[in-house]
Amino acid sequence: MLLTDKVAIVTGASRGIGRETALALAAQGADLVVSARSLEPLQLLVKEIEALGCRAIAVSADAAASEDADKLIAAASEAFGRVDILVNNAGITRDGLLLRMKDADWDAVLDTNLKGAFLLTRAAAKLMSKQRSGRIINISSVVGEMGNPGQANYCASKAGLIGLTKSVARELAKRSVTVNAITPGFIETDMTKELPEKARQELVTQIPLGRLGQAEDIAQAVVFLASDHAGYITGQVLGVNGGMYM
Ligand code: NAP
Repeated sequence: MLLTDKVAIVTGASRGIGRETALALAAQGADLVVSARSLEPLQLLVKEIEALGCRAIAVSADAAASEDADKLIAAASEAFGRVDILVNNAGITRDGLLLRMKDADWDAVLDTNLKGAFLLTRAAAKLMSKQRSGRIINISSVVGEMGNPGQANYCASKAGLIGLTKSVARELAKRSVTVNAITPGFIETDMTKELPEKARQELVTQIPLGRLGQAEDIAQAVVFLASDHAGYITGQVLGVNGGMYM
């Protein structure tokens, strides 16, 4: 067990990568605060985590809402008295080519994916600084490194997360809080299920490991960065992308 007695918050935990990450952290002994906007899938997840022998609470929160970030950290603090691990995973896409991209689509993606991580990181950093320990893990994306046509808003948000990661890593290092980003490649979740079969097959040809990623691939990278094994790693960007970007 790598994470016994640790308390972790995972945003966007109602499905996909976040859900798998919460389960993987619990499998290593962590207690969990699972968050997303929709409460029902979180409540089912809490039962699964409890079945693994860990404690868990579900908190409905909108990543883009400032007051919800404080509410989430307060709920974690009240339930468990500390926060050791924060996984900023909540994210959305609103794809469209630049010339047709609406302001609202830009704002929604930046507010959820980037400002949401900033708000929660700021709130958690207060606790972690006092504890003089903590792990913050931001789920960015390979397209934040490469760019992608039709995703100017999404790529900007994910590239922004990398800048946020490195700056906060420098600020919090003296408090023994590490801050890292993971850049997943193409992972099979609800977010990517609309891709037509032909495009999917074409994509696989660009991935040296010859397959799309699974949520579990990202979850295990989070477990590593959250564990004591990663104590000397901060400000880094860990690509988990089957080699599609090197
Ligand atoms: P997903 O299946 O669509 O899940 C997204 C999660 O984020 C859901 O739990 C959703 O829950 C939550 N969420 C969305 N908007 C939210 C908001 N405003 N406030 C709080 N929670 C919100 O996506 P995924 O594929 O697991 O992606 C997870 C993360 O990995 C995202 O940041 C994504 O950008 C990143 N990523 C994914 C891929 C991929 O190929 N799948 C690749 C690179 C990076 P509710 O709707 O209930 O709020």
